[in-house]
Amino acid sequence: MESHREREPVNAFTCELEDWFHILDTDRAPAMEDWSRLPLCAEKNVDRLLQLLEDNEARATFFCLGWMAERMPGLVRRCQEAGHEIGSHGYGHLLSYTVGSDVFLQDAIRSKKILEDITGQEVIGFRSPGFAVKNNNRWVFDVVAEAGYRYDASVFPAQHGHGGLCEADPAPHVIKTKGGSLIEIPSSTIKLWGRSVCLFGGGYLRISPLPLIRWGIRRLHREGRPLVVYVHPREFDPSHPRLPLKWRRRFKCYVNLRSTWPKLKWLCEHYRFTTMKTLAADLEPARQASPADTKGLEGPRQRVTVVDVTKRSPVSRQVHSN
Ligand SMILES: [Zn+2]
Repeated sequence: MESHREREPVNAFTCELEDWFHILDTDRAPAMEDWSRLPLCAEKNVDRLLQLLEDNEARATFFCLGWMAERMPGLVRRCQEAGHEIGSHGYGHLLSYTVGSDVFLQDAIRSKKILEDITGQEVIGFRSPGFAVKNNNRWVFDVVAEAGYRYDASVFPAQHGHGGLCEADPAPHVIKTKGGSLIEIPSSTIKLWGRSVCLFGGGYLRISPLPLIRWGIRRLHREGRPLVVYVHPREFDPSHPRLPLKWRRRFKCYVNLRSTWPKLKWLCEHYRFTTMKTLAADLEPARQASPADTKGLEGPRQRVTVVDVTKRSPVSRQVHSN
């Protein structure tokens, strides 16, 4: 199996370090001022995940909420000491388009500082809660760059409840922003019956049968793209407390929780996983060579030579103006 895994492209495993009540866009979720009174479940689940990753010599990126990191700095350090990357998921799990760019920027800066104080290392990666980047709030990219991050992982290149940039390049690429250029590593999607779909994270991973997931990964790899998996600690803990959600959200959030752990185990046993930072490293020269978008939204599109992260050979790819 090892030789098979060594031939595969390198993939990224990501976990959003948040808890069972961090569910967006519902009035049934508690307000931030009430979070401190609630029991926290993430720590024991992340420890289980750390063991699974270690057993399979896999590395991952933990996009941590600053609020969680303040309460469990030891867990953040354990992730770091096990060789995983610490990225930021913001401080207070804010939905970008409901709070606006100023508040979102302060939240992204606050989280970065907390995580850097805990780890003693620069935090270069950011993932927006809910993958909440749409065509009408692409300012998120400006904010992420302005907050000092070098790569972003907020793009979901398919229909999605809180975000979804269907026309986005589904492969890792560079985006020009007003705050400088940013590497973008989208979540993995493939085309199925003409539509972009995700089979590799959150509820999509939970409802997709394993043969379909395996087929999707083959497709991704044939196209020279890495697999980017994402998961939340609550998703592999079927005993976690539930919010009194309406039926549609209840289904989305809680369907097939028992299937998550066996699927994560299967993924780790069959594919090589590394950090998002490792994938981003191949695009760092292109990011540095791409100046900030000073011409605003109508900036020209440029072609530059960047390195494909899976084939590790130079390819020509567009740098997108924001
Ligand atoms: Zn989240």
